Amino acid sequence: MRKNKAILGVLIAVIVALVFTGVYFASKSDSSKDTSAKTTKSDNNTSENKDKKDKSKSDKNVEKKTEEKTEAETETTTEQILDTDKVVYLTFDDGPSDLTPSFIDTLNTYGVHATFFVTLQEGREDIYKQILENGNKIQIHTASHDYDAIYQSVDAYIADFDQIYNYIYNLTGVKCDVFRFPGGSNNSYGKNITMDIAREMRNRGINYVDWNSSVGDGSASATKDSEVQKITAESDGVQRVVLLAHDAGTKSETLAALPQIIEYYKNNGYKFGLISGDMDLSDFQFMKVD
Ligand SMILES: [Zn+2]
Repeated sequence: MRKNKAILGVLIAVIVALVFTGVYFASKSDSSKDTSAKTTKSDNNTSENKDKKDKSKSDKNVEKKTEEKTEAETETTTEQILDTDKVVYLTFDDGPSDLTPSFIDTLNTYGVHATFFVTLQEGREDIYKQILENGNKIQIHTASHDYDAIYQSVDAYIADFDQIYNYIYNLTGVKCDVFRFPGGSNNSYGKNITMDIAREMRNRGINYVDWNSSVGDGSASATKDSEVQKITAESDGVQRVVLLAHDAGTKSETLAALPQIIEYYKNNGYKFGLISGDMDLSDFQFMKVD
């Protein structure tokens, strides 16, 4: 009896062992089927991705796609401009000012952007940030905008430039790569040294830009209508326009003219570009740097 019980025990043990082994291998082979199925599925997804027919719901794939899309969109924004395109570069000098948020609002209303050539205005930190947060660009005008001081010497100009450059960098993390001379590169105060300044800047990897059209708001008698008329006349038939305007508390006529200015360029097929150091700016420089 004991012997029989022992044999039965061994048999049960063997059966249990066999069953477990069977279940183990069965599950292993199932999971390997799963893996190969998943591989095939994901291979299919990869080829579907290429065909732009991706219906995958995998989080990773979605994440990756979003990243790719963002990269593609960024590229589109910077490389969308073709040689044959008409482009206007709206530029605002002298800000930030009390009117800057209103200029930004108007740009936003039309879904366009501008480049702000800024001065140093302590206490307006939030406005510099607002300019950037709304997709516009900041480049350098001058810290002090004091012609007598900055055009005294190349060193004086560079010291003023460094002050505003570092201020913007510390505030926003942006390294500006283009500047605009107060008064333009051929202004009567500094024209004897502007080319030396531009050469020194070029050594630092920073280019300069003037303009080829202006709303004329440097004159106190400029009105909304005169500004619109001026840019319309100056831009007719011009493929690339760098438009000078001013962002100062007194420039309410420019603010009032801005909707019509934007509409003019939109109606005439212009794209809206931003000024950056990798552009060829030679068509918008009054004096050539040798
Ligand atoms: Zn200025």
